[in-house]
Amino acid sequence: MTSWEYAPAPESREIARLRPSYRMFVGGEFVEGTGEPLKTVNPATEEVLAEVSTASASDVDKAVATARKAQEKVWGRMPGAERAKYIFRIARMIAERGRELAVLESLDNGKPIRESRDVDIPTASAHFFYHAGWADKLDYAGYGPDPQPLGVAGQVIPWNFPLLMASWKIAPALACGNTVVLKPAETTPLTALVLAEIIQQADLPPGVVNILPGAGDVGSTLVNHPGVDKVAFTGSTEVGKSIQSSLAGTGKKLTLELGGKAANIVFDDAPLDQAVEGIVNGIFFNQGHVCCAGSRLLVSESIADELLATLHQRVSTLRVGDPLDKNTDVGAINSGMQLAKIRELVAAGDAEGAERWTSPCPLPERGFFFAPTVFANVSQSMRIAREEIFGPVLSVLTFRTPDEAVAKANNTPYGLSAGIWTEKGSRILWMADRMRAGVVWANTFNRFDPTAPFGGYQESGFGREGGRTGLEAYLNV
Ligand code: NAP
Ligand code: MG
Repeated sequence: MTSWEYAPAPESREIARLRPSYRMFVGGEFVEGTGEPLKTVNPATEEVLAEVSTASASDVDKAVATARKAQEKVWGRMPGAERAKYIFRIARMIAERGRELAVLESLDNGKPIRESRDVDIPTASAHFFYHAGWADKLDYAGYGPDPQPLGVAGQVIPWNFPLLMASWKIAPALACGNTVVLKPAETTPLTALVLAEIIQQADLPPGVVNILPGAGDVGSTLVNHPGVDKVAFTGSTEVGKSIQSSLAGTGKKLTLELGGKAANIVFDDAPLDQAVEGIVNGIFFNQGHVCCAGSRLLVSESIADELLATLHQRVSTLRVGDPLDKNTDVGAINSGMQLAKIRELVAAGDAEGAERWTSPCPLPERGFFFAPTVFANVSQSMRIAREEIFGPVLSVLTFRTPDEAVAKANNTPYGLSAGIWTEKGSRILWMADRMRAGVVWANTFNRFDPTAPFGGYQESGFGREGGRTGLEAYLNV
């Protein structure tokens, strides 16, 4: 095969304006937290990027109290048209500082700059733009006249799309007149704190948004705080379940966006090259750290051999390495812990008899990296077909009839997303009707838009984010 040698094309890290330390954001000010400071690491090099102060239980108390005051005295009373101006300003400022945010995100998270620059940051800005538009139109959202906010939202987000998840959480809450206390993930706090800077510069009234870095215990203190009216959580099903049980009976409104094990289904009439691109995007985008990743490929038996051969060839061309290189396709695994989890599940795939193919790509010597991997001859009972790997690992199963494809796709405790590849429009509709998944993509995958509601079935959680439907989670309806 022709070899495609690319000269390095590194993005400069200067623009990230990395500082040695970052503080938490409460009541419109950056303040020292009284928790044990954490060190955030660049997963591509294992170097410490910065020290970040964290919240203690009393800091959570203060943040919730300031959010309450801001909600009752200022933000909740402000006309929607006025709130919209602030939200719109935040959207613009994210876009203006897009390059800085993209580099910082890639440094802290390990994702390729191509993705943070072209997907994460523009989509984050788009979420604020979109929700700015709703703030003065809530009367027409279909939730009755003059729908009211819930109050203070306690929000906890994961590390896979740090700024984007913060935006998914904060923008609709603000549009609906709520105030926010948000905890970013322990391994990726930096872009949320630059967002806090933007929020401060946008002159948002103090206390409307508060950002508290810290570990899981800060998240737990926050969601269980009696001063919080609404909890929004994105992360693992395990933690989601524990939050749901601890909130039962408290009257707090809850939305959960949890894990997934999506089927990406390829029929024999699908355009093969296009499907292969969709499969690659479905599982190798963001190193597979995507809750809606197409991690189970279901392929029609009659084309399986041909498709696998093409897929191997295509995956061999993915460049794995420095996230700041503009030519990198697959960056670093976010943490040593996540890398260990991926290795454990891949070892389980080997032990259970699946046929492993690993891309022959070179890997950097330092940092957390994992070569793109495809398992064939996977059966439904194997761990790699049932459990979320959350890494660049694809499990391939086959089917003979559409009914069998439906049965296999739905044979999972999750239900976040699904993909369908076929030339026939009627088959797309027939399949989409039968998929027990919150999002169904047809002849594409991993497309996100603020107008489209996103959320799951079963153990993937409940509630929707985005679109008109997503407003419901932040209104008293
Ligand atoms: P996680 O433990 O559920 O973490 C998600 C967020 O919740 C983080 O901010 C975390 O803080 C916080 N948290 C942890 N324990 C908590 C508790 N008891 N109460 C409240 N908040 C708590 O997920 P993870 O450890 O990052 O990843 C584990 C697995 O979850 C992954 O391998 C993947 O399968 C799945 N996952 C799914 C998504 C998704 O988008 N659906 C995203 C990420 C991970 P810390 O950062 O300090 O842990
Ligand atoms: Mg980090």
